Amino acid sequence: MAQINRQLGIALLGLGEYAGAELAPALKETNHCRLAAIVSDEPAKMEEWRKIYGLNEKSCYTYEQFDDIKNNPEIDIVYVVLPNAMHEEYVIRSARNGKHVICEKPLATTVEACQRMIDACRDAGVKLSMGYRLHFDPFNQEMMRMGQNKVYGQVKKVIARDSMEIGESNQWRLDYERAGGGPLLNNGVYCVQGALYILGELPVALTASFLPRSDPKKFAEVEEGVRWTMEFPGGAIAECETSYSKNENLLRAEAERGWFELDPAYEYEGLKGRTSEGPLKLAAVNQQAAQMDDFALCIRENRESRVPGEMGLRDVEIMIAIYESARTNKRIELHLEEFENMAEK
Ligand code: NAD
Repeated sequence: MAQINRQLGIALLGLGEYAGAELAPALKETNHCRLAAIVSDEPAKMEEWRKIYGLNEKSCYTYEQFDDIKNNPEIDIVYVVLPNAMHEEYVIRSARNGKHVICEKPLATTVEACQRMIDACRDAGVKLSMGYRLHFDPFNQEMMRMGQNKVYGQVKKVIARDSMEIGESNQWRLDYERAGGGPLLNNGVYCVQGALYILGELPVALTASFLPRSDPKKFAEVEEGVRWTMEFPGGAIAECETSYSKNENLLRAEAERGWFELDPAYEYEGLKGRTSEGPLKLAAVNQQAAQMDDFALCIRENRESRVPGEMGLRDVEIMIAIYESARTNKRIELHLEEFENMAEK
Protein backbone atom coordinates (compact mmCIF):
# COMPACT_ATOMS: atom_id res chain seq x y z
CA MET A 1 0.00 0.00 0.00
CA ALA A 2 1.41 3.39 -0.98
CA GLN A 3 2.32 5.76 1.84
CA ILE A 4 -0.22 8.60 2.23
CA ASN A 5 0.97 11.82 3.81
CA ARG A 6 -2.12 14.03 3.52
CA GLN A 7 -5.21 14.07 5.73
CA LEU A 8 -7.40 11.14 4.71
CA GLY A 9 -10.83 11.93 3.29
CA ILE A 10 -13.90 10.48 4.97
CA ALA A 11 -17.29 10.15 3.28
CA LEU A 12 -20.14 10.11 5.77
CA LEU A 13 -22.89 7.78 4.60
CA GLY A 14 -26.18 8.59 6.32
CA LEU A 15 -26.66 12.13 7.59
CA GLY A 16 -28.77 11.34 10.65
CA GLU A 17 -28.44 12.26 14.29
CA TYR A 18 -25.09 10.64 15.01
CA ALA A 19 -23.38 11.81 11.83
CA GLY A 20 -24.80 15.32 12.14
CA ALA A 21 -24.42 16.00 15.84
CA GLU A 22 -21.21 14.07 16.57
CA LEU A 23 -19.14 12.80 13.64
CA ALA A 24 -19.17 15.80 11.33
CA PRO A 25 -18.33 18.27 14.15
CA ALA A 26 -15.61 15.86 15.37
CA LEU A 27 -14.08 15.91 11.87
CA LYS A 28 -13.28 19.59 12.47
CA GLU A 29 -11.06 18.51 15.37
CA THR A 30 -9.21 15.66 13.68
CA ASN A 31 -5.56 15.93 12.63
CA HIS A 32 -5.24 13.01 10.23
CA CYS A 33 -8.62 12.94 8.47
CA ARG A 34 -11.29 15.34 7.23
CA LEU A 35 -14.81 15.36 5.87
CA ALA A 36 -14.41 14.80 2.10
CA ALA A 37 -17.91 13.76 0.97
CA ILE A 38 -21.47 13.02 2.04
CA VAL A 39 -24.02 10.46 0.88
CA SER A 40 -27.72 11.07 1.39
CA ASP A 41 -31.08 10.97 -0.33
CA GLU A 42 -32.31 14.18 1.25
CA PRO A 43 -31.51 17.13 -1.06
CA ALA A 44 -32.35 19.77 1.57
CA LYS A 45 -30.04 18.16 4.09
CA MET A 46 -27.23 17.85 1.54
CA GLU A 47 -27.59 21.55 0.73
CA GLU A 48 -27.48 22.46 4.40
CA TRP A 49 -24.35 20.31 4.94
CA ARG A 50 -22.66 21.69 1.83
CA LYS A 51 -22.97 25.17 3.26
CA ILE A 52 -21.89 24.30 6.78
CA TYR A 53 -18.92 22.16 5.76
CA GLY A 54 -17.91 23.94 2.55
CA LEU A 55 -18.33 20.85 0.34
CA ASN A 56 -18.54 21.18 -3.43
CA GLU A 57 -21.28 19.55 -5.49
CA LYS A 58 -18.97 16.77 -6.67
CA SER A 59 -18.54 15.61 -3.07
CA CYS A 60 -22.27 14.96 -2.60
CA TYR A 61 -23.69 11.58 -3.62
CA THR A 62 -27.17 10.11 -3.52
CA TYR A 63 -27.48 6.42 -2.64
CA GLU A 64 -28.00 5.73 -6.33
CA GLN A 65 -24.74 7.47 -7.22
CA PHE A 66 -22.90 5.78 -4.37
CA ASP A 67 -20.69 3.52 -6.51
CA ASP A 68 -19.27 6.63 -8.22
CA ILE A 69 -17.17 7.15 -5.09
CA LYS A 70 -14.66 4.76 -6.66
CA ASN A 71 -13.69 7.54 -9.06
CA ASN A 72 -13.08 10.05 -6.29
CA PRO A 73 -9.49 9.86 -5.01
CA GLU A 74 -10.34 12.36 -2.26
CA ILE A 75 -12.35 9.64 -0.50
CA ASP A 76 -10.18 7.16 1.39
CA ILE A 77 -12.69 5.97 3.98
CA VAL A 78 -16.46 5.48 4.01
CA TYR A 79 -18.07 5.81 7.43
CA VAL A 80 -21.35 3.85 7.43
CA VAL A 81 -23.82 5.55 9.79
CA LEU A 82 -27.06 3.96 8.61
CA PRO A 83 -29.72 1.85 10.36
CA ASN A 84 -28.19 -1.48 11.44
CA ALA A 85 -29.68 -3.71 8.74
CA MET A 86 -28.21 -1.49 6.00
CA HIS A 87 -24.62 -1.79 7.25
CA GLU A 88 -23.89 -5.00 5.36
CA GLU A 89 -24.80 -3.75 1.91
CA TYR A 90 -22.90 -0.48 2.23
CA VAL A 91 -19.79 -1.89 3.89
CA ILE A 92 -19.49 -4.45 1.08
CA ARG A 93 -20.13 -1.86 -1.63
CA SER A 94 -17.59 0.51 -0.05
CA ALA A 95 -14.99 -2.25 -0.02
CA ARG A 96 -15.71 -3.21 -3.64
CA ASN A 97 -15.22 0.44 -4.56
CA GLY A 98 -11.76 0.28 -3.01
CA LYS A 99 -12.47 2.31 0.12
CA HIS A 100 -11.52 1.55 3.71
CA VAL A 101 -14.54 1.39 5.99
CA ILE A 102 -15.64 2.38 9.47
CA CYS A 103 -18.95 0.78 10.37
CA GLU A 104 -21.18 1.88 13.19
CA LYS A 105 -22.25 -0.60 15.84
CA PRO A 106 -23.60 -3.22 15.66
CA LEU A 107 -21.51 -4.42 12.71
CA ALA A 108 -24.60 -6.22 11.36
CA THR A 109 -27.68 -7.99 12.60
CA THR A 110 -26.45 -11.57 11.97
CA VAL A 111 -23.13 -13.35 12.40
CA GLU A 112 -23.24 -14.47 8.76
CA ALA A 113 -23.60 -10.88 7.55
CA CYS A 114 -20.64 -9.83 9.72
CA GLN A 115 -18.52 -12.56 8.17
CA ARG A 116 -19.51 -11.52 4.63
CA MET A 117 -18.48 -7.94 5.43
CA ILE A 118 -15.12 -8.99 6.86
CA ASP A 119 -14.50 -11.26 3.85
CA ALA A 120 -15.41 -8.50 1.37
CA CYS A 121 -12.99 -6.06 3.01
CA ARG A 122 -10.21 -8.66 3.12
CA ASP A 123 -10.79 -9.61 -0.53
CA ALA A 124 -10.70 -5.96 -1.57
CA GLY A 125 -7.54 -5.29 0.46
CA VAL A 126 -9.17 -2.56 2.55
CA LYS A 127 -9.38 -2.17 6.33
CA LEU A 128 -12.59 -2.46 8.33
CA SER A 129 -12.97 -0.78 11.69
CA MET A 130 -15.86 -0.51 14.12
CA GLY A 131 -17.09 2.86 15.36
CA TYR A 132 -16.27 1.76 18.92
CA ARG A 133 -15.42 5.22 20.25
CA LEU A 134 -15.07 4.14 23.90
CA HIS A 135 -11.78 2.38 23.15
CA PHE A 136 -10.40 5.89 22.59
CA ASP A 137 -11.91 7.40 25.73
CA PRO A 138 -9.48 7.90 28.66
CA PHE A 139 -12.08 6.90 31.30
CA ASN A 140 -12.88 3.59 29.61
CA GLN A 141 -9.19 3.05 28.86
CA GLU A 142 -8.51 3.43 32.59
CA MET A 143 -11.18 0.79 33.32
CA MET A 144 -9.37 -1.55 30.88
CA ARG A 145 -6.05 -0.85 32.58
CA MET A 146 -7.33 -1.32 36.13
CA GLY A 147 -9.13 -4.53 35.22
CA GLN A 148 -6.62 -6.19 32.94
CA ASN A 149 -3.60 -5.21 35.10
CA LYS A 150 -5.44 -6.34 38.26
CA VAL A 151 -4.75 -3.03 40.01
CA TYR A 152 -7.30 -4.00 42.71
CA GLY A 153 -6.63 -7.72 42.36
CA GLN A 154 -8.65 -10.12 40.25
CA VAL A 155 -12.00 -8.69 39.17
CA LYS A 156 -14.76 -10.95 40.48
CA LYS A 157 -17.80 -9.19 39.12
CA VAL A 158 -18.62 -6.62 36.44
CA ILE A 159 -21.94 -4.80 36.52
CA ALA A 160 -22.85 -3.11 33.23
CA ARG A 161 -26.12 -1.32 32.52
CA ASP A 162 -26.89 0.86 29.54
CA SER A 163 -30.51 1.88 29.11
CA MET A 164 -32.26 4.81 27.49
CA GLU A 165 -35.86 5.92 27.16
CA ILE A 166 -36.51 5.47 23.46
CA GLY A 167 -39.26 8.05 22.84
CA GLU A 168 -41.43 8.07 19.70
CA SER A 169 -42.81 4.76 18.35
CA ASN A 170 -42.22 5.52 14.66
CA GLN A 171 -38.43 5.18 14.54
CA TRP A 172 -36.28 2.54 12.84
CA ARG A 173 -34.87 1.42 16.21
CA LEU A 174 -38.27 -0.13 16.99
CA ASP A 175 -38.62 -1.73 13.55
CA TYR A 176 -37.16 -5.25 13.47
CA GLU A 177 -36.42 -5.19 9.77
CA ARG A 178 -34.18 -2.14 10.01
CA ALA A 179 -32.82 -2.51 13.56
CA GLY A 180 -32.45 -6.31 13.79
CA GLY A 181 -33.16 -6.13 17.52
CA GLY A 182 -33.85 -3.70 20.33
CA PRO A 183 -31.76 -2.13 23.10
CA LEU A 184 -29.39 -5.10 23.18
CA LEU A 185 -27.96 -4.26 19.74
CA ASN A 186 -28.17 -0.52 20.33
CA ASN A 187 -26.97 -0.08 23.93
CA GLY A 188 -26.30 -3.55 25.31
CA VAL A 189 -23.31 -3.85 22.99
CA TYR A 190 -21.54 -1.37 25.30
CA CYS A 191 -22.19 -3.64 28.28
CA VAL A 192 -20.76 -6.62 26.39
CA GLN A 193 -17.76 -4.54 25.40
CA GLY A 194 -17.25 -3.10 28.90
CA ALA A 195 -17.20 -6.52 30.56
CA LEU A 196 -14.76 -7.92 28.00
CA TYR A 197 -12.37 -4.99 28.12
CA ILE A 198 -12.29 -4.83 31.90
CA LEU A 199 -11.61 -8.56 32.19
CA GLY A 200 -9.49 -8.99 29.08
CA GLU A 201 -11.15 -12.36 28.55
CA LEU A 202 -13.82 -13.85 26.33
CA PRO A 203 -16.97 -15.22 27.99
CA VAL A 204 -17.42 -18.99 27.98
CA ALA A 205 -21.16 -19.11 28.74
CA LEU A 206 -24.16 -16.88 29.34
CA THR A 207 -27.76 -16.91 30.54
CA ALA A 208 -30.35 -14.27 29.66
CA SER A 209 -33.98 -13.29 30.12
CA PHE A 210 -36.15 -10.63 28.53
CA LEU A 211 -37.50 -7.88 30.81
CA PRO A 212 -41.31 -7.65 30.94
CA ARG A 213 -42.94 -5.58 28.18
CA SER A 214 -44.64 -2.53 29.73
CA ASP A 215 -45.86 -1.32 26.32
CA PRO A 216 -46.58 -4.32 24.05
CA LYS A 217 -47.65 -2.10 21.15
CA LYS A 218 -44.49 -0.03 21.11
CA PHE A 219 -42.31 -3.09 21.65
CA ALA A 220 -44.17 -5.38 19.27
CA GLU A 221 -41.11 -6.05 17.07
CA VAL A 222 -38.06 -5.64 19.30
CA GLU A 223 -37.46 -6.44 22.96
CA GLU A 224 -38.10 -3.72 25.54
CA GLY A 225 -35.20 -4.93 27.65
CA VAL A 226 -32.96 -7.85 28.43
CA ARG A 227 -30.84 -8.92 31.38
CA TRP A 228 -27.97 -11.36 31.09
CA THR A 229 -25.04 -12.87 32.99
CA MET A 230 -21.78 -13.81 31.29
CA GLU A 231 -19.31 -16.30 32.76
CA PHE A 232 -15.57 -15.87 32.19
CA PRO A 233 -12.79 -18.47 32.26
CA GLY A 234 -11.02 -16.83 35.24
CA GLY A 235 -14.18 -17.24 37.36
CA ALA A 236 -15.52 -13.67 37.04
CA ILE A 237 -19.12 -12.97 36.08
CA ALA A 238 -20.69 -9.94 34.40
CA GLU A 239 -24.25 -8.95 35.25
CA CYS A 240 -25.67 -6.80 32.48
CA GLU A 241 -28.93 -5.11 31.63
CA THR A 242 -30.26 -2.90 28.86
CA SER A 243 -33.70 -1.40 28.31
CA TYR A 244 -35.55 1.18 26.21
CA SER A 245 -37.73 2.24 29.18
CA LYS A 246 -35.34 3.82 31.67
CA ASN A 247 -32.06 5.67 31.84
CA GLU A 248 -28.96 3.98 33.25
CA ASN A 249 -25.31 4.31 32.31
CA LEU A 250 -23.11 2.24 34.62
CA LEU A 251 -19.91 0.21 34.25
CA ARG A 252 -18.61 -1.14 37.57
CA ALA A 253 -15.98 -3.70 38.55
CA GLU A 254 -15.72 -5.38 41.93
CA ALA A 255 -12.29 -6.85 42.58
CA GLU A 256 -10.47 -8.65 45.40
CA ARG A 257 -9.12 -5.48 47.01
CA GLY A 258 -11.46 -2.72 45.86
CA TRP A 259 -13.84 -1.50 43.17
CA PHE A 260 -13.87 0.95 40.26
CA GLU A 261 -16.71 2.35 38.22
CA LEU A 262 -17.90 4.86 35.64
CA ASP A 263 -21.32 6.50 35.84
CA PRO A 264 -22.06 7.77 33.30
CA ALA A 265 -19.86 5.32 31.44
CA TYR A 266 -20.92 5.31 27.78
CA GLU A 267 -21.85 8.93 26.99
CA TYR A 268 -19.96 11.10 24.50
CA GLU A 269 -18.87 13.47 27.26
CA GLY A 270 -19.29 14.15 30.96
CA LEU A 271 -18.06 10.69 32.02
CA LYS A 272 -17.37 10.36 35.73
CA GLY A 273 -15.28 7.71 37.40
CA ARG A 274 -14.42 6.68 40.91
CA THR A 275 -12.64 3.86 42.66
CA SER A 276 -12.70 2.56 46.22
CA GLU A 277 -9.86 5.05 46.79
CA GLY A 278 -11.55 8.17 45.38
CA PRO A 279 -12.53 9.99 42.17
CA LEU A 280 -10.79 9.35 38.85
CA LYS A 281 -9.19 12.56 37.62
CA LEU A 282 -8.74 12.33 33.87
CA ALA A 283 -8.87 14.82 31.01
CA ALA A 284 -11.68 14.12 28.54
CA VAL A 285 -11.05 13.88 24.78
CA ASN A 286 -13.32 14.11 21.76
CA GLN A 287 -13.93 10.35 21.46
CA GLN A 288 -15.04 10.41 17.84
CA ALA A 289 -12.11 12.58 16.71
CA ALA A 290 -9.66 10.27 18.51
CA GLN A 291 -11.32 7.18 17.00
CA MET A 292 -11.28 8.52 13.42
CA ASP A 293 -7.71 9.86 13.72
CA ASP A 294 -6.52 6.50 14.95
CA PHE A 295 -8.08 4.72 11.97
CA ALA A 296 -6.50 7.23 9.59
CA LEU A 297 -3.13 6.44 11.16
CA CYS A 298 -3.82 2.70 10.87
CA ILE A 299 -4.24 3.19 7.13
CA ARG A 300 -1.17 5.40 6.81
CA GLU A 301 0.98 3.02 8.83
CA ASN A 302 -0.65 -0.11 7.42
CA ARG A 303 -1.62 -1.61 10.78
CA GLU A 304 -4.92 -3.08 11.92
CA SER A 305 -7.50 -1.08 13.85
CA ARG A 306 -7.66 -1.85 17.57
CA VAL A 307 -11.43 -2.19 17.01
CA PRO A 308 -11.47 -4.32 13.84
CA GLY A 309 -14.45 -5.88 12.09
CA GLU A 310 -13.61 -9.16 13.86
CA MET A 311 -14.39 -7.46 17.17
CA GLY A 312 -17.75 -6.38 15.79
CA LEU A 313 -18.45 -9.96 14.67
CA ARG A 314 -17.46 -11.32 18.09
CA ASP A 315 -19.89 -8.94 19.80
CA VAL A 316 -22.73 -9.83 17.42
CA GLU A 317 -22.05 -13.51 18.11
CA ILE A 318 -22.39 -12.84 21.86
CA MET A 319 -25.57 -10.79 21.39
CA ILE A 320 -27.19 -13.43 19.18
CA ALA A 321 -26.42 -15.97 21.94
CA ILE A 322 -28.03 -13.62 24.49
CA TYR A 323 -31.21 -13.58 22.37
CA GLU A 324 -31.12 -17.34 22.06
CA SER A 325 -30.73 -17.82 25.81
CA ALA A 326 -33.55 -15.36 26.57
CA ARG A 327 -35.83 -17.12 24.07
CA THR A 328 -35.06 -20.67 25.20
CA ASN A 329 -34.39 -20.08 28.92
CA LYS A 330 -31.19 -22.06 28.47
CA ARG A 331 -27.57 -21.44 29.47
CA ILE A 332 -25.56 -21.11 26.27
CA GLU A 333 -21.93 -22.14 26.02
CA LEU A 334 -19.78 -19.94 23.82
CA HIS A 335 -16.77 -20.94 21.76
CA LEU A 336 -15.51 -17.57 20.59
CA GLU A 337 -12.40 -17.26 18.50
CA GLU A 338 -9.52 -15.02 19.47
CA PHE A 339 -8.54 -12.75 16.62
CA GLU A 340 -5.12 -11.49 15.74
CA ASN A 341 -5.35 -7.97 17.06
CA MET A 342 -6.93 -8.79 20.36
CA ALA A 343 -4.48 -7.29 22.84
CA GLU A 344 -7.03 -4.79 24.04
CA LYS A 345 -10.00 -7.15 23.84
P1 NAD B 1 -30.70 8.30 12.47
O1 NAD B 1 -32.07 7.73 12.34
O2 NAD B 1 -30.56 9.62 13.14
O3 NAD B 1 -30.01 8.40 11.04
C1 NAD B 1 -30.11 7.37 10.09
C2 NAD B 1 -29.67 7.84 8.71
O4 NAD B 1 -29.92 6.79 7.79
C3 NAD B 1 -30.44 9.06 8.20
O5 NAD B 1 -29.57 9.86 7.46
C4 NAD B 1 -31.47 8.44 7.25
O6 NAD B 1 -31.83 9.33 6.22
C5 NAD B 1 -30.68 7.28 6.68
N1 NAD B 1 -31.54 6.21 6.16
C6 NAD B 1 -31.41 5.63 4.94
N2 NAD B 1 -32.32 4.69 4.76
C7 NAD B 1 -33.09 4.67 5.86
C8 NAD B 1 -34.20 3.89 6.25
N3 NAD B 1 -34.69 2.94 5.48
N4 NAD B 1 -34.72 4.13 7.47
C9 NAD B 1 -34.18 5.06 8.30
N5 NAD B 1 -33.12 5.82 7.98
C10 NAD B 1 -32.57 5.63 6.77
O7 NAD B 1 -29.83 7.19 13.21
P2 NAD B 1 -28.47 7.40 14.01
O8 NAD B 1 -28.79 7.60 15.45
O9 NAD B 1 -27.61 8.39 13.34
O10 NAD B 1 -27.83 5.92 13.90
C11 NAD B 1 -27.23 5.46 12.71
C12 NAD B 1 -26.21 4.37 13.06
O11 NAD B 1 -25.24 4.90 13.96
C13 NAD B 1 -26.81 3.15 13.78
O12 NAD B 1 -26.17 1.98 13.35
C14 NAD B 1 -26.49 3.40 15.25
O13 NAD B 1 -26.37 2.21 16.00
C15 NAD B 1 -25.19 4.13 15.15
N6 NAD B 1 -24.96 5.05 16.30
C16 NAD B 1 -23.79 4.94 16.98
C17 NAD B 1 -23.54 5.77 18.05
C18 NAD B 1 -22.24 5.67 18.77
O14 NAD B 1 -22.12 6.25 19.84
N7 NAD B 1 -21.25 4.98 18.24
C19 NAD B 1 -24.49 6.71 18.44
C20 NAD B 1 -25.67 6.80 17.72
C21 NAD B 1 -25.89 5.96 16.63
